[in-house]
Amino acid sequence: MALLITEECINCDVCEPQCPNEAISVGPEIYVIDPDLCTECKGHHDEAQCLAVCPVECIIPDPDNEESEEELFAKFERLCG
Ligand code: SF4
Ligand code: SF4
Repeated sequence: MALLITEECINCDVCEPQCPNEAISVGPEIYVIDPDLCTECKGHHDEAQCLAVCPVECIIPDPDNEESEEELFAKFERLCG
């Protein structure tokens, strides 16, 4: 599933350059993840890069965007195709 940045985000900008899909951007108050672009890093890395670097651990699975591994890889193919 796509990941979600919660309001604990401190706008540190560490995650944004790590995203292979350019899914992370500055939102009105905190950074946001575009669920249409987030593949949970599938196809690029073994683990979610934003989760790995966030210093306050404010990135969680997005309950409104549940996707299977197959769907995430399909999204990766679509984005890179
Ligand atoms: Fe980007 Fe990966 Fe984080 Fe999704 S999990 S927002 S693809 S860095
Ligand atoms: Fe926010 Fe975490 Fe990204 Fe920093 S790394 S901008 S705290 S989500």
